[in-house]
Formats: sequence, C-alpha cells, structure tokens
Amino acid sequence: MSNELITRQDFEQYMVPVFAPAQFIPVKGKGSRLWDQQGREYIDFAGGIAVNALGHAHPVAVNALTTQAQTLWHIGNGYTNEPILNLAKQLVESTFADKAFFCNSGVEANEAALKLARKIGLNSGVAGKNQIVAFNNAFHGRTLFTVSVGGQAKYSQDYAPLPSGITHVAYNDLDAAKSVINEHTCAVIVEPIQGEGGVIPANVEFLQGLRHLCDQTGAVLIFDEVQTGVGRTGRLYAYMNTGVLPDILTTAKALGGGFPIGAMLTTDEYACAFSVGDHGTTYGGNALAGAVGSAVFSHINTAAVLQGVEARFEYFKTALNLLNQRYQIFSEIRGAGLLLGCVLQQCYAGQAARLNKLSQQHGLLGLIAGANVIRFTPSLIIPFADIDEGLQRFEQAMVQFIENQE
Ligand SMILES: *Cc1c(COP(=O)(O)O)cnc(C)c1O
Repeated sequence: MSNELITRQDFEQYMVPVFAPAQFIPVKGKGSRLWDQQGREYIDFAGGIAVNALGHAHPVAVNALTTQAQTLWHIGNGYTNEPILNLAKQLVESTFADKAFFCNSGVEANEAALKLARKIGLNSGVAGKNQIVAFNNAFHGRTLFTVSVGGQAKYSQDYAPLPSGITHVAYNDLDAAKSVINEHTCAVIVEPIQGEGGVIPANVEFLQGLRHLCDQTGAVLIFDEVQTGVGRTGRLYAYMNTGVLPDILTTAKALGGGFPIGAMLTTDEYACAFSVGDHGTTYGGNALAGAVGSAVFSHINTAAVLQGVEARFEYFKTALNLLNQRYQIFSEIRGAGLLLGCVLQQCYAGQAARLNKLSQQHGLLGLIAGANVIRFTPSLIIPFADIDEGLQRFEQAMVQFIENQE
C-alpha cells in the first residue's frame, strides 16, 4: 500500500518550506477515514480544507474520473468539450448566473472576478471607476492581487509594491462600508461567511446593505463562495440563505470534490465586458475537471444531500455544545452547515493549533481558522457514526488540552 522509501523527512529535504504538514503521511482515504503509512486510522473532519465534499474515493467521483480518463483529458481552449459544457449548464441552471468561466482554483476564480470588475468599471465611462472595497480578515487566495484584496496584512506585506486601489473596512460594519463605497468603486468583494478569517458569518442586513450600496453606485457585488459553495452551508450556495443576489460569484474547493477546478459565475450583462483574449488559462475548463465536477455537482445538488448537511449541522452543534458544557473550552460554536467554528474562550486565546494537534494525536483531523478557532469542514455526507467517533476523539483531545494547560 505505501512506499516505505518515502518518509516525512523527505518533506524537509525536497519541498519549499511554505507548509508545515503533520508528521505522518496519509496514504489512503475512504469516505471520512484516512490511513497513514503505519496503517493508523484517522477520522477526517477537515475534508482537505472544505474540498472533499463527498469524502475520499466516492464511487460517483471515481467513476467519473476513470471513465473520462480513458476518453479525453485535455485539448486546450482552442476547442471546447462536452463535460465542461455540461457543468456550465448545471451551474447556470441552478444559480443566479448566466455564464461561467472555468479555472483550476479559488484564487484564479477571484483573480478573474476582480479583473472583470476592473473592466466593467473601465467600460462604464466613469473616470477612475477602479476602486475595490474589501474587508478586514478576508481571505481571497494567494496571488499578489488577491493577497492585496484579502484583509490580512501578513499575507501581502512582504511582497510590495502591491496592486493599488484597494480599501479595507471592518466586516459586518455597514456604516464603515458606506463611508468608502462611492461612484469610483468598481467592486465590493465579500465572503458570506469568512472562512479562514475565523468562521464568521455575515449578517444578512450587512449583505443587503452592500447590495443596496452597489446598486446606488454602479459597483459590482462579488461573493467569494470558494469555501461556502457547493452545498457547504446546506444550500447550494450561501447567498441562497440571504435573499441577496451577487453580480459575480466565485466557487472552487468542493466544486471538484478533490479534483482541482474553480469557476467564476456572472450574469450576461457583466460577462460581455470580457471579450475574446481578455482573460484566459491553459488548464481551465479541461474535460477531466469538467467530468468530475459535473458528477460531483449532480450528486450534491439534491434535496437529500443538502438536507443531510442541515441535519449534520444540528447534530454537530448539539454534540459540541454538550461537550462544551462539560469542559468550558469554547465561548461559541458558530458557522452554518458543515462549516463549523469552535471559538476558544479568552483564557485559551492563541491555542487553537495546540488543540488541533492534540486532536490529530487522538486520530481526528480538524482545522484551525486563525489562532483562536477550531474549524471543521468534513464531507457533506459524513456518516453519523463517524461524527460520533470523531467527537469522542475530540473529547479526549479536549481533556488533554485542559490538563496540559500552558
Ligand atoms: C480557499 C479560499 C480561497 C483560495 O482558494 P485556492 O483554491 O486555495 O486558490 C479563496 N477564497 C476563499 C474564501 C477561500 O476559502
């Protein structure tokens, strides 16, 4: 099953040190369980960071991938292909959008959205309509443009000079947004739930207010649903919970269920600001990604799966609150669907990574979102028995977390 010649030490030796992966190396996954080189088993509440929406090696995804792999992988964008047209049709028919642009990741979807917004601003005829409004603690990916639009200086400050024309204000603060959105604003970009920033849901009134401000000033409203999309919150996209329609939406992570694919969705009116040659990508929209994305999307976009996410949310929330009554580690359990944040009490500030590491040692894989929040983004169809067992392991980690208090 595993290649004994490869060890974790090889990471230090051969890899650029931008990550600090766990000391074990997973070699096999099935459903919501993973096994490492030593055959140790883990329950997966991380889902490859909100990616593996159907868990590991789901037959629907495996079948789509292997069938397409024997048919057609890639032909470049001088030709279109059936699988990606299928997926485009599915996305358009299920959302506000009329058109899709495909790429390979969340950051590329955001890059396309921001470039489109600048072009729309340029075409508007209003001089200097190129300003972008974004929010503190936002995360939009790691290109130079998107780290600049993101609201965490630590990701951009070392790479100056940075793209300009970007203003940040506090998330969920409509008055602050109002003070910076004007006729020079070409786009407002916002996550319906800040994921990396700490699993912080936007207030519906805040999103409604942004919609109104964009309408008044002719700015486009971009929802970054890279993390919240494709069923994660119990609706196909989180905007569907809010009654607010964006002009542009970006989606990736769960879209391929583990196969790299991203998309920017928009309306006919805005899509035509781009014409042939204005933007592009080599791999984007290839047949292999299209086939997997399309199969995964069909499977998730059903009442059974989406209602299952709701049910699992209630189940998780009840169980986590019960655990917390016992151990008093968290001040709040928040989020929606299977994007859950456990916020550490003040007295444990800065210790999310320590608790997450203890969970790993007890055979549970979770995530952090900043220094103070444990984040869970499991498969949307994780079996309830795996939730139970995962939470038992989490309880063991919580006990040890308190005992070894730093
Ligand atoms: C993960 C994420 C991104 C970046 O996606 P990549 O696929 O890593 O490029 C952008 N926005 C949000 C909200 C994300 O969670």
